[in-house]
Amino acid sequence: MARHSRRDILIGGGVVLAGIVLPSNLTLAQGAELPPTPECRDAHDVTPRQTEGPFYTPKAPERANLREQGIKGISVALGGLVLTRSCKPVANAVVDLWHADGDGAYDNKGFRLRGFVRTDAQGRYAFQTVQPGNYPGRVRHYHVKVQAPGARLLTTQLYFPDEPGNARDFLFRKELLIRTAKTADGLAARFDFVADLR
Ligand code: FE
Repeated sequence: MARHSRRDILIGGGVVLAGIVLPSNLTLAQGAELPPTPECRDAHDVTPRQTEGPFYTPKAPERANLREQGIKGISVALGGLVLTRSCKPVANAVVDLWHADGDGAYDNKGFRLRGFVRTDAQGRYAFQTVQPGNYPGRVRHYHVKVQAPGARLLTTQLYFPDEPGNARDFLFRKELLIRTAKTADGLAARFDFVADLR
């Protein structure tokens, strides 16, 4: 991936609209700050849905740290917000994450690199995980299911910026790009989900 300059990752910021403080830069691992994805506007689009693919395993454990001993891949602090279409944070949304390891391999027997968390009162979620590898036919990606209370289940996938393989991947969509910044031990990554709620 291309290196982001410090200036790039600090651009952005909160906007106050009708008394609601809209989401701003989020501080992730190692103090890296990343602006929202997408920039929050009133009534913006719901996060696009994508197939769950063949490797989803239900009933993954509730845990934020997926970096178990021996897991292959660059460390990633992945986090962001769950928002409504009018940019309000959604508390208590379940964010269920599963993905391949740095070699592009899934654990289809157990729960390695699988887990879920719930958003806090400010709508924030966070995982400690690794960067998935490419695997045959697919560029590196995360799989996610987001269950915001009262909304339809959102199943989608997230992609890394500046990947040559994105253009060749049949499922890639630029609306599903995370933002990344280098940290001392890997990457900070941000994606904000927009649930189909007002
Ligand atoms: Fe996959």
